[in-house]
Amino acid sequence: MEHGTLIQLSSLQSSTAPQPVLLSDIGNVLAFFDFGIAARRVAGRSPFPEEALSARLDHIKGPFENGDMDDATFLREAVAALQFQGSEAEFAEIWCDIFTENTAMRRTLEPLAGRLPMRLLSNTSGLHKEHLLSAFGIFLPFGGGVYSYSARCSKPGEEIFRKTIAQLGLDPALTFFVDDLEPNIATAARLGFHTHHYQPARHAAFERDFHAWLARAGISA
Ligand SMILES: [Mg+2]
Repeated sequence: MEHGTLIQLSSLQSSTAPQPVLLSDIGNVLAFFDFGIAARRVAGRSPFPEEALSARLDHIKGPFENGDMDDATFLREAVAALQFQGSEAEFAEIWCDIFTENTAMRRTLEPLAGRLPMRLLSNTSGLHKEHLLSAFGIFLPFGGGVYSYSARCSKPGEEIFRKTIAQLGLDPALTFFVDDLEPNIATAARLGFHTHHYQPARHAAFERDFHAWLARAGISA
């Protein structure tokens, strides 16, 4: 499996001196998401109106992303809360099929595969992470990461950033962190990362900042 190989290579690299690394958020940076897609598909198979569905899951979404609830429990509780007329497996497929790849970002990152280590830092569940990594080519250059559900803490808290630094062997001063949410950027900046607040409509601004950072790190874009 390609991801396994990348992770092995990256752990070899991290045993040497700290080096420039790209650390990226997932949602609205590498992949866009729209829970409305899932709500529309569930609506025909639930007694509740489409606009009421998301709120009916509010009590389990947080614990699920923070690792306090496993996949099987989440699916069972979600199917019950929505009175979904289908199997848990069918609901899981609908729950995961809400993403599209950020093709502009893929075009920027793909040429750097193998020349710049890339890692992920995402508030996400195991279900979504496994789906994303297997469904979209934009993740192929990434060699592992830290995720809220397994770290049992989440952005914008400092704890998950400190775990990320330790687990991935990062030097924040040499790490370019990109995220679309300002509170996450603020924590990363306080810890000494080079940060970029990503706005999909301003991808060219990201590319300018990223390429200038690469040039300073001695890596050609
Ligand atoms: Mg995001």
